[in-house]
Amino acid sequence: MMFDLDKELQSLKEAGLLRTMPGVEARNVTHIRIDGRELLLMASNDYLGLSQHPQLISCGARAAEQWGAGSGSARLISGSSALFDTLEKRLADFKQTQAALVFSTGYMANIGLLSALAEKDDIIFSDELNHASIIDGCRLSRAKVSVYPHLDTGTLEAQLRQSGRYRRRIIVTDALFSMDGDIAPLPRLLELARSHDAVLIVDDAHGTGVLGPKGRGTVAHFGLEDCDRLVLMGTLGKALGCFGAFVAGSRVLIDYLVNRARSFIFTTAMPPSNVAVALAALDLIEQEPTLRERLQENTDFMHRELGSLGFDLGNSQTQIIPIMAGEASTSVAMAADLMEQGIFLQAIRPPTVPKDAARLRLTVTALHTRQQLEQVVTALEKTGRTFKLIN
Ligand code: PMP
Repeated sequence: MMFDLDKELQSLKEAGLLRTMPGVEARNVTHIRIDGRELLLMASNDYLGLSQHPQLISCGARAAEQWGAGSGSARLISGSSALFDTLEKRLADFKQTQAALVFSTGYMANIGLLSALAEKDDIIFSDELNHASIIDGCRLSRAKVSVYPHLDTGTLEAQLRQSGRYRRRIIVTDALFSMDGDIAPLPRLLELARSHDAVLIVDDAHGTGVLGPKGRGTVAHFGLEDCDRLVLMGTLGKALGCFGAFVAGSRVLIDYLVNRARSFIFTTAMPPSNVAVALAALDLIEQEPTLRERLQENTDFMHRELGSLGFDLGNSQTQIIPIMAGEASTSVAMAADLMEQGIFLQAIRPPTVPKDAARLRLTVTALHTRQQLEQVVTALEKTGRTFKLIN
């Protein structure tokens, strides 16, 4: 067998770490069909339910008819269009920055951004729980990487103090942590960036469309603005219900990325239909605050109910709710038990999360009804008792 790959897979299996993709037969915002069974879906990032919104679907179809199914090439060749310019202006406006640049995915935005801004004489300070795409972007940049303990601004400050010999200093953080649902202390991070001549990159994949006035995101939630020091990254594939990502910041930063971000330059532009859908999603987010209000109500309900049952929810403050299980095998067995009860959510295991910090990652959306959430709480109570996570 090639390179003994089968043995590696076998050892992943024995450690309870093998990953497989569920065979999904149908899905909407709140339900998923697997093996002919209709399950309540508690594992998507479609927080506002926009992926199924009729206005977005018809908008995408119209754009495909006008512009075609694909973009045909990279933006810098011939794949750009007025649609992209409109979306980028709209995103800059939404994030209150001078300019924005669309990337095909959030993963590509992070690796492109970090590897364009930093090189070997530079240093990147990265929260230990940052998303894999940030970790990979740091590696790709060849800069010195200084990982600080999760949210620990004291240690970060000490690291910054010793970084005088580096050319550029970059602090990078998830705004709303993808596996923990807690929020980075952005005001303090920006203060540190200012006092140590650093730039702060904020990955707001999960806060964009959810937090802050009009859903503008976590930076707006804290009322921060600084075009010299702040670089914002956001995704279109989560609360915005479609696909892709963007970087927003100063005009000069965006012009620089067009010339230097390899994951922007050397890849086919996203399909025009997706660009049109993202634009329509921004309109909906601004026009329909009730979606965010319902998401907040559902989030509060689940925190309250699961907290009072005694589950360890880490420091989650948001719609991403980890239910700490410890061992990887426990989290996998719990997910299977919940599936038996008609609930679908994912066990999150190392290397996505640290060793012994396996968990179920539960996400709520604006479209879940109270009755559905009650059903989830009842099922979790039973599973939690079976696996002795609660009494
Ligand atoms: N950053 C964070 C914090 C994420 O959670 C994700 C996706 N899970 C990404 C970046 C990557 O975004 P995308 O899925 O668009 O590649």
